[in-house]
Amino acid sequence: MPDLPDVFITRAIPEAALQLLASALPGLKVAVNPRDANLTPAEIASMAAGAQGLICTLADDISRALIESLPRLRVIATYAVGTNNIDLAAARERGIVVANTPDVLTDATAEVAVGLMLACARRFIEGDVLTRQGSFRGWAPLFHLGFGVYGKTVGIVGAGRIGLRVARTMRHGFDCRVLYTARSAHPEFEAQAQATRVDLNSLLEQSDFVSLHCPVTPQTKHLIDGSRLARMKRSAFLINTARGPVVDESALVEALKAGRIAGAGLDVFEQEPALAPGLAGLGNVTLLPHIGSATVETRQRMGLMCAQAIIDVLGGREPANRVVPG
Ligand code: NAP
Repeated sequence: MPDLPDVFITRAIPEAALQLLASALPGLKVAVNPRDANLTPAEIASMAAGAQGLICTLADDISRALIESLPRLRVIATYAVGTNNIDLAAARERGIVVANTPDVLTDATAEVAVGLMLACARRFIEGDVLTRQGSFRGWAPLFHLGFGVYGKTVGIVGAGRIGLRVARTMRHGFDCRVLYTARSAHPEFEAQAQATRVDLNSLLEQSDFVSLHCPVTPQTKHLIDGSRLARMKRSAFLINTARGPVVDESALVEALKAGRIAGAGLDVFEQEPALAPGLAGLGNVTLLPHIGSATVETRQRMGLMCAQAIIDVLGGREPANRVVPG
């Protein structure tokens, strides 16, 4: 089967990653999706037929059926830290190694979370729009007022790598009080961010900013639903840079419409790239197109990590970032 690739990559990635594959494994046949669009599982099955390695993104549905349709597959390297789009059990049953890209995207994603807090509280996007539209008539004491960030209470849901980076920034950069919730205690998190562990309801009731940093799992799907939103302060902001399904987006639209919370900053959506009906028309929400890790440096490092995972597994070695199903 001369035309079948050894490694298939579902979206164009930085050139450095392709060069790493070519230099480490000369003769390896690598194929990249030629279209500037995501592929359906059927398209991946056909384009990756015969491949031993697959580099995918969080937008690809790597289902059991797809995994079982690729009999030579040995390694899946996902261009993400979240693995909710991959059937990890099916991969494990087939002896396929799954690797991800933690750590290298922590700072970039934390920047977006912190940026969203500032953008929401200080109404950056509304201010940009009205200025471009010529509606800025000059400084006035009551013009375009927002809320301050310094010294406020920040609630972190999910005390992992990104949650810790956000917590430290808000504690040490903005003098905020930090609360967090997670399934287990995180003493290092508490020490580094001078943070206090509380239950989710207390966190929601006390925080001025609630920032989500947990993975999406069966336990965290719609963790923030209508009843949880109702516990938040009317002056509080919800920030989601984790995964869309952690929030019940329709319930969030209702809460924002009714003014039950002050606003929201979202980098991720429940049915990406679609938005819940009504969301785009709201003024008290800042919307970003899933750009948490989207810096030149970070995307290059993620590409190199994916390439290295393929090289390691095809070379019979353990990759640095093997995903172990929780
Ligand atoms: P991580 O280091 O694994 O941290 C996740 C934390 O979530 C863990 O510390 C875990 O602590 C906590 N957690 C798990 N289940 C929970 C639950 N039911 N309730 C509360 N906390 C829970 O992951 P990370 O690298 O920080 O990444 C976090 C997530 O960010 C990823 O899973 C991904 O979905 C998302 N992400 C988004 C972007 C973007 O572009 N917007 C970029 C990168 C990552 P316990 O085990 O103690 O509960």
